[in-house]
Amino acid sequence: MSGKAEHSLGQAVMFRSKDFLKWSDNAMEYLLRKSPVAGSVDFITKDFFNWATRNSLYFLHFGIMCCALEMAVASAPRFDQQRFGIIPRSSPRQCDVLLVNGPVTKKLKPALRRLYDQMPEPKWVMAMGECAISGGPFYNSYSVVPGVDQFIPVDIYIPGCPARPEALIDGFLKLQKLIKKNKKGLLTGR
Ligand code: SF4
Repeated sequence: MSGKAEHSLGQAVMFRSKDFLKWSDNAMEYLLRKSPVAGSVDFITKDFFNWATRNSLYFLHFGIMCCALEMAVASAPRFDQQRFGIIPRSSPRQCDVLLVNGPVTKKLKPALRRLYDQMPEPKWVMAMGECAISGGPFYNSYSVVPGVDQFIPVDIYIPGCPARPEALIDGFLKLQKLIKKNKKGLLTGR
């Protein structure tokens, strides 16, 4: 056995189970992507996966001020946004959508960016209400960021002060249309 091969074997033996799972995951994904059947798999599964994704949007509810009350009401029986597959969650690692409302201060900005970074791909961001869109009534305050899109890419803007629950649900429906329009295969990215 050559020195190089012995070295690789040594590395493989020294894997912790967590590292091994990550390595084998990457290897499988690489082989699948390079495989000639990748295009066919995407052709068969693309529509289904896209349908499932857009109809089960788990959102991280990042509400800071008055708009947060409208966001909560959207989940109550009168508006019942869950009927569209729109479900609130509290962990960024379980979410597809970051929903931000209220004025984001400069002090809070790094924490919000970190939450966004912790969300798995594919992910989307919605800015709800004037504060999240542009800083709202606090747009020229020394401590407020004039819009979430200053440091996170925003896909959907929902105007209003406050934005009503109907407007929030309409924003989610627009996001569903956007996801449908940008349909891509998981393996080939086309
Ligand atoms: S947009 Fe208006 S209602 Fe919403 S958090 Fe800002 S001040 Fe409150």
